[in-house]
Amino acid sequence: MRQVHICEVGPRDGLQNAKQLMPTEVKKAWVSALAAAGLTEIEVGSFVPPKLIPAMADTEEIVRHAIAIPGIKVVALAPNVKGFERARAAGAHKVTFPVSASYQHSVSNVRMTPDQMVEEVRRAAALAGKDGPEIEGAISTAFGCTLQGEVPEDEVVRLAVALAEFCGGVALADTVGYANPAQVRRIFRRVKSEIGDKLEGAHFHNTRGLGLANALAAYEEGVRHFDSSMGGLGGCPFAPGASGNVITEDLVFMFESMGLATGIDFDRLLAARQIMISGVPQEPVYGHMALAGLPKGFRAAA
Ligand SMILES: [Zn+2]
Repeated sequence: MRQVHICEVGPRDGLQNAKQLMPTEVKKAWVSALAAAGLTEIEVGSFVPPKLIPAMADTEEIVRHAIAIPGIKVVALAPNVKGFERARAAGAHKVTFPVSASYQHSVSNVRMTPDQMVEEVRRAAALAGKDGPEIEGAISTAFGCTLQGEVPEDEVVRLAVALAEFCGGVALADTVGYANPAQVRRIFRRVKSEIGDKLEGAHFHNTRGLGLANALAAYEEGVRHFDSSMGGLGGCPFAPGASGNVITEDLVFMFESMGLATGIDFDRLLAARQIMISGVPQEPVYGHMALAGLPKGFRAAA
C-alpha cells in the first residue's frame, strides 16, 4: 500500500525548461519506464501553444501513448480552457491549471490576472462535469516570486479557497524555489484549516537546495501527494532562475528510508533515468541517490 504518492512531472516541468528537445519516441519510452518503475501518476506534458514552448508540441501524442499504459493516472497541464479542451480530447485523466498567487507572474505567464485565471479554471471545471478529467488548481509562486518578490500569504489562502469550490484538489507550488520549511509548515497549515482535504499536493523546486526539507515539512503537515522530477530537471521559462524540481530519486529514497511506502522500485527508477539522459544528453541532471547508490542493508518500506 502506498503511503506517499509521487507524481513525476519531469516530462512536463523538466522538459519545458530544457534547452534540448527530447525526441518523441524517447519521451514515450521514458514515460513507459517511469510507469514500469511504479510511478502511478505522471504529468506528461502541457497544452500550451507549440510556438511558445516547442518542447510541448507533441503533448497530444504523449498523452495518447500514456493512457494506453494500464494503471497510471495521466496528467496534463493547461493554462486556459482551450488547453483544457485539447487535454480532454486527447484523453488526459487529470488536468492541472497553474494559478499564480503573484499578480506579476500571472500576467507574465498566462496573460491573465489571478482572479481571471480562477474564472478560467471555473469554466473548465464546468465543462469537465462529472465524466470529464479531474481538475487540479495548482497555486504557483505560492512562496515567493522572482518578478514580484514577496507573495502575500493571505492571497495564497484566498485563491485556495476560491479554487476549492470547484476543483477536485488544490496544490501549492514553490515555482521558483523560494520556500523554506517554516514557511511551508505555516502556509500549508493555514490553507488546510480553510479547505481541509481539498488541499492535496505539494510541488517544490530545489533551486536553493531546500526541496527535500520542504517536502518533509509538508509531509509533517499531512501532505501525501508530491510532485517531483527525475534528475531534478525542471523550472519555469517565465521565471528567471527557476530550475530543478525536487529530485524524484532522492524523494523516493527519503520516504522509503523513513519506512513510508511509495510503491516505486529503485532499480527500475534508475533504468528510467538512463532513458531520460539518453533523450537530453546535454541537460544537467542531479541527484544524490543515483550517484551514491542505496546504503548497504537497505530495505524498501513494505
Ligand atoms: Zn514547477
